Amino acid sequence: MSTDKLLKSNIYSFGSGGPRGSAPVLLGGQCRCGYVFFPMQAYGCEQCGNHGDALTPCELSTGGTLLAEAVVHLHADKNRPAPFTIVKVALDDGPVVRSVLAEDSAAVSPGQRMTARLVPVRSGESGETVLDLRFTAAI
Ligand SMILES: [Zn+2]
Repeated sequence: MSTDKLLKSNIYSFGSGGPRGSAPVLLGGQCRCGYVFFPMQAYGCEQCGNHGDALTPCELSTGGTLLAEAVVHLHADKNRPAPFTIVKVALDDGPVVRSVLAEDSAAVSPGQRMTARLVPVRSGESGETVLDLRFTAAI
């Protein structure tokens, strides 16, 4: 079974290369001053304070470097079966993001080059299969 439905379409999307097999992109923003952030918001720039139309949406590459990782052995939400690994990644485009490591990823340690892809997961709310973003060790 396949799906093109994204679990969190407000923060990531299919790469411009097309829906299948292409690297996903993160939906971030950029300020007129050059500061890049994630996720997109219009409240204000953390660097210069500009807001409104000074902030424009932009697509960020998921390529980056692993800063830290931690295994979660027990989660309060029963829809999140443990164990799973949380990763903190410094994106090449600037922002630092926290996400989940793909289950089949090779072991990772800080300094590792990372990328992300979309994997099918069961939505806790609807029970349907949707695509969610997972980081994985870059080859
Ligand atoms: Zn700014």
